[in-house]
Amino acid sequence: MHLHLNPAPYAAVDPPVRDGAYRTVSFWHETVPITPGPPLDHDVDCDVAIIGGGYTGLSTAYHLKQYAPDLSVVLLERAVIGHGASGRNGGFAMPLLGWDLLYTAEKLGEAAAGRAYRLMYDAVEHVKRMVREHQLDCDLETTGYIMINTCKRREARARREHTVAERLGFDHQWLDHNALQEHIRGEQFLSGIYDPHPCILNPAKLARAMKRLIESLGVQVYEQTPLTELVVNRSPGARLTLRTPQAKVQARQVVLAVNGYGASLGFMKDRILPVHTYIVLTEPLSQQQLEGIGWAKYRTSLETARNMIHYFRLTADRRIAFGGEDADLYPGGAYKDVDEKICAALKARFREYFPSLRDVRFTHQWGGVLGVSLDMFPSFGRGGPDNNVFHATGYSGHGVSLSNYAGALLAPEMLHALGVPNPPPRLELPFFYGKQPSWLPPGPLRYYGMRAYRLALRAQDRLEGA
Ligand SMILES: Cc1cc2nc3c(=O)[nH]c(=O)nc-3n(C[C@H](O)[C@H](O)[C@H](O)COP(=O)(O)OP(=O)(O)OC[C@H]3O[C@@H](n4cnc5c(N)ncnc54)[C@H](O)[C@@H]3O)c2cc1C
Repeated sequence: MHLHLNPAPYAAVDPPVRDGAYRTVSFWHETVPITPGPPLDHDVDCDVAIIGGGYTGLSTAYHLKQYAPDLSVVLLERAVIGHGASGRNGGFAMPLLGWDLLYTAEKLGEAAAGRAYRLMYDAVEHVKRMVREHQLDCDLETTGYIMINTCKRREARARREHTVAERLGFDHQWLDHNALQEHIRGEQFLSGIYDPHPCILNPAKLARAMKRLIESLGVQVYEQTPLTELVVNRSPGARLTLRTPQAKVQARQVVLAVNGYGASLGFMKDRILPVHTYIVLTEPLSQQQLEGIGWAKYRTSLETARNMIHYFRLTADRRIAFGGEDADLYPGGAYKDVDEKICAALKARFREYFPSLRDVRFTHQWGGVLGVSLDMFPSFGRGGPDNNVFHATGYSGHGVSLSNYAGALLAPEMLHALGVPNPPPRLELPFFYGKQPSWLPPGPLRYYGMRAYRLALRAQDRLEGA
């Protein structure tokens, strides 16, 4: 294995990184102090090197140090901790896997889907427990979550999903139109499925709080330090070499925790797509404005049941964050912070859903990159000639809970492989551990293929009236 950073796709996001203007990345980044740490400027030898300072990397570092406090763990982040999807997301910590439970049951069978979803609920509870136990300041609220049907076809599908959920023992509640109105009012909102367990949080605050936590456990965090090359020496037991602009790291194990950025490192570039999603944010709303749309009694988090979903939630200061509508892949795998066309479409959709709020101002818009696999399932595992390069990727838009739980799954495997004394018990590994995502054709074929697929998904939404 020999990975090389291809800097070209970063062109669109490099200037803010170089200027250190991290706070302009999203609304969430404005709500938390961010002083970038110094880059790595001296060679380091360590047990484990983690690449990527999102939730996957942070969670892995946390669990390794919890189980093995003497282990030397280094985390390299290209920009600042929480600069990627983990700082920018909608903040929904949910149990969703694949497209949804029905899809997962159709793919894996009901029993396996039940096991997979129970793991996802463990991940949601893990987020809540971490926040509580370590007093991570991130505005966490257990609001519950409703998947809203906006057309008859989706409603029929949702009924089938609800039956499966009941059979598997999940406490989802069917909300008919009247019951749904208790949570949100809107012409298009026909019915929904309510799940009481999901929570929302401020994602950048969580990432920065996790940074402080792992540093307190002794993890060496280097921000502004991109991995430029990973060299695997083929003699058994030899250390891995990681090159960065000023210094190199030698490690016994590496974790690639770069999710949607993997393609730019050449990691799973033919299997995980750097797809973008965007969010627009309103000014703070008054109690009357929220009452006008029926969103004042409960602060339930919401998503529409479409191919091109909308996800919307309230912030701690009573703004509406409204995301989705479209998701795009750019030529050459480029990265974008904002897509004006998609953000304009989002604002138009918001006004269609909530005509009484047509005059509210939008103060922020931003987006980020997801790692998406063809079947929408994540991929965890290990590889390389010495089997010492671990990864967790491909959360496909549903990574807040699972990436925060990634370390709980990876760390026991890593510690057993390292042969540390008294390693933690190994967990039953989920179906996506060791799962290779489907291969995707290269270059323009991939780009145009995905565009055609995206157009088909949008056309289906339009035809169904969703
Ligand atoms: C706008 C948006 C909204 C979303 N909303 C939700 C939601 O509401 N709920 C949900 O469940 N999921 C959501 N997601 C997805 C979720 O945020 C991700 O699945 C999750 O954060 C993935 O975490 P990660 O640590 O694996 O990746 P990331 O957070 O992307 O972290 C990867 C890190 O690697 C760094 N990196 C990249 N290349 C290098 C390199 N060469 N050297 C060093 N570092 C490098 C990056 O700078 C980045 O910080 C959303 C994503 C986006 C973009």
